[in-house]
Amino acid sequence: MTKQITENKVSPEQLQKLDKKHFLHPTTPLPLQQADGPAVIFEKGKGIHITDVHGVEYIDGVSSLWNVNLGYGRQELADAASEQMMKLAYASSFFNNSHEVVIRLSEKLASIAPGDLNVSFFTSGGSESNESAFKIVRHYWKLKGQPKRRKIISLDLSYHGVTMGATSATGVPEFKKMITAIAPDFLHAIPYKTNCELGDKNDPDYDRSFRGIIEKEGSENIAAIILEPIQGVGGVNIPPEGYLKAVRDLCDEFGIFMITDEVITGFGRTGKMFGVNHWNVVPDIMCVAKGITSGYIQLGAVMMTEKLRDELNRMSDDVFYHGFTYSGHPTACAVALKTIEIIENEGLVDNARIVGEELLKGLNHLEQKHKITAKPRAIGLMGAIELFRDPEQSIPFSPTEFAALAVVEECAKRNLILRPLTFGGMNAVAIAPPLISTKQDIEKMIDILSDSISAYEKQVL
Ligand code: PMP
Repeated sequence: MTKQITENKVSPEQLQKLDKKHFLHPTTPLPLQQADGPAVIFEKGKGIHITDVHGVEYIDGVSSLWNVNLGYGRQELADAASEQMMKLAYASSFFNNSHEVVIRLSEKLASIAPGDLNVSFFTSGGSESNESAFKIVRHYWKLKGQPKRRKIISLDLSYHGVTMGATSATGVPEFKKMITAIAPDFLHAIPYKTNCELGDKNDPDYDRSFRGIIEKEGSENIAAIILEPIQGVGGVNIPPEGYLKAVRDLCDEFGIFMITDEVITGFGRTGKMFGVNHWNVVPDIMCVAKGITSGYIQLGAVMMTEKLRDELNRMSDDVFYHGFTYSGHPTACAVALKTIEIIENEGLVDNARIVGEELLKGLNHLEQKHKITAKPRAIGLMGAIELFRDPEQSIPFSPTEFAALAVVEECAKRNLILRPLTFGGMNAVAIAPPLISTKQDIEKMIDILSDSISAYEKQVL
């Protein structure tokens, strides 16, 4: 018996029902979706605005998942995709084949990346990029005759994706609930203790720092360190001055690869083209995704130094047995090239930096104005502010109060989409609007956030 398929225009109510029946949502409380259906069903977007099926328009204050950096409805990106689809929708680069756009994108990425990160391997997103990076470094050490160098160290509260290796590297405990056991040889360090990385053994957390772990495990067993230059999902955590450099030096001291996860911070989000540019650090491998196509189509990349590629080449004449069907997808590459062209032509990295200063000012102002706000922070257009029952005494809201979620819901009532970041007991509200945002846009977002915090304060204080 053939099943009945819904055709033509469907009402919002029907969409709700069909969503509940047939769609398993990513990173969503299943009982909530099954009870209420989806919270919002989006229909269209233009600029920094996104509109739902009822015609309600929102400001997208988080660029969807920190990725729609150029905003919605960009004709040039649609044209780039459509032209490439008509010319050559897909071609594989397995078995030593290639095609024009993947070559041009690889060259373009090399030209904008720091240092000698001149070689790219392509994926369909951030998890695949990190997963690939882990395999590449382990492969390297095996070829080098050091197969015991398998361990990967990442930071607590890091987020590196949801494939097995990427989940294992992720330091947000909630994301590990589903995998029952993390993959072997993944270790976690405490974030941002510069003095530990510089060798201060008196620090009580020394044993859990990157340096302490390397000493305990033996550097001959460590393949790589991976970290986000600025942690995103873990709370928009900006490292102290000197930290990334200290990690770079540590990796050099012990001959360990440094992998940076620039999935959020890449392509201008922080007011520099890449997060590491803030500290003039060049990793051995840099994983990117999201902003590379402004979220218009799936693409990620593992960028590595020419030196690393040359050594892989020198050490083995075997096949590089790693590749996804969609590695270097022509249509995705065409959209990425156009995205980077727009970022450059419209000066969006500078815009993120300049408008980002307004964002930081706005968040600082909220800290002054409200009784429950603390720790405002922003770097370019990547910001957050935390909520405490009593910020002065550092008394948090209890987890059952869902303070950050409540404030974000107040924002949604006022047509602004923001995101709660609640891992590790934090109650932060993240704001990361598209890089095309103006100062006026930021002022409006801050005003709405302020009204929303006031509304929540009335309920709880
Ligand atoms: N790394 C970081 C820093 C991320 O923020 C994300 C996604 N939020 C990922 C990796 C995973 O990327 P994806 O969802 O594209 O697999």
